[in-house]
Amino acid sequence: MGTIKQDLIPSTNSNRPGTPLTPTHITVHETANTSIGANAAMHAAYVKGQDAQNRQVSWHYTVDDRETIQHLPTNEVGWHAGRAGNAASIGIELCVNRDGNFAQTRASAVALIQHLMSELGIGVANVVTHQHWTGKNCPANLLNDWARFKEELSGGSNLPRRVRVISSQLWVYNRPDWNARYTIVNQGEVFTVDSALTVNGSTMYRLRSGLYITGNTQFVELLY
Ligand SMILES: [Zn+2]
Repeated sequence: MGTIKQDLIPSTNSNRPGTPLTPTHITVHETANTSIGANAAMHAAYVKGQDAQNRQVSWHYTVDDRETIQHLPTNEVGWHAGRAGNAASIGIELCVNRDGNFAQTRASAVALIQHLMSELGIGVANVVTHQHWTGKNCPANLLNDWARFKEELSGGSNLPRRVRVISSQLWVYNRPDWNARYTIVNQGEVFTVDSALTVNGSTMYRLRSGLYITGNTQFVELLY
């Protein structure tokens, strides 16, 4: 998640109605815009512009692989999930621009949602998809992976608290990418696990330090 940058929609814009919101839910979306450059900054500019007002759309946060941008206060209604969804939920858009790293975007979204759950007292059962409210095929990628996404949000029972290195030496990575080798750690070292993700079909853990390590039990012991 990193730091949350605020770039709020002007209060005079028609897509920021100022309607009070007491959020009971968090609604997850994907932008469905795979264009190069369709990142959080681009969407922050878009949602302040005329087209978003013409289309009557707005939401609270956009997450890409580098940053998280807030467009609305969490106590104001946005227009992203139909009447019932808007009245109940904070809207979060995940970028799917093809020049971005979706695994990183996803990991940042998990961190943001966990932060909001904690801050606003929203349980994981109330983290829902756009599809939940309106039937729309959104968030298209995460709908194929929703159970695991929810499990990650809840710090799932399958998630070890720590991992201990059991091979003599092991790479850790600075991004959720098996090519992003960062440094070598040694047998016996123990690391605190932050979240789990799947990278090219294999489990990777994001560590509290922000680095990443394999979840393959040939190389690490999982400590619960
Ligand atoms: Zn959506």
